[in-house]
Amino acid sequence: MPIKLVLPINHPRGRKDLTCPEVHCDYCQERIKSARHGNYEWEVDEQGAPTTGQMCFTHKLCSRPFRQANGEAEGRHWFSMELADLLVFLPRNLSTSPQQVAAHERKMIEHAL
Ligand SMILES: [Zn+2]
Repeated sequence: MPIKLVLPINHPRGRKDLTCPEVHCDYCQERIKSARHGNYEWEVDEQGAPTTGQMCFTHKLCSRPFRQANGEAEGRHWFSMELADLLVFLPRNLSTSPQQVAAHERKMIEHAL
């Protein structure tokens, strides 16, 4: 379960505490704190087509041991992309522009404070 809802933030003005999704590495289980330090990975068949479509997340340094622990030596194949790439694909696949994401972020911040 690589994306988790956690409760790390106590609201500064005594309101209801804030929950926040975080991405955790499927190998070491630690939080991936920067998109540039993470990958998302998925298993593919011999033709490069996704097998299940399920995504896994790893620190870049954990990618190789993750693959070794998940059958690479036995012939399972894995593809990966940088986690930062996912942040580009998701808004597009959800019909949302970067401007809409930024506007929504401002609205969330205003609402939280
Ligand atoms: Zn890791």
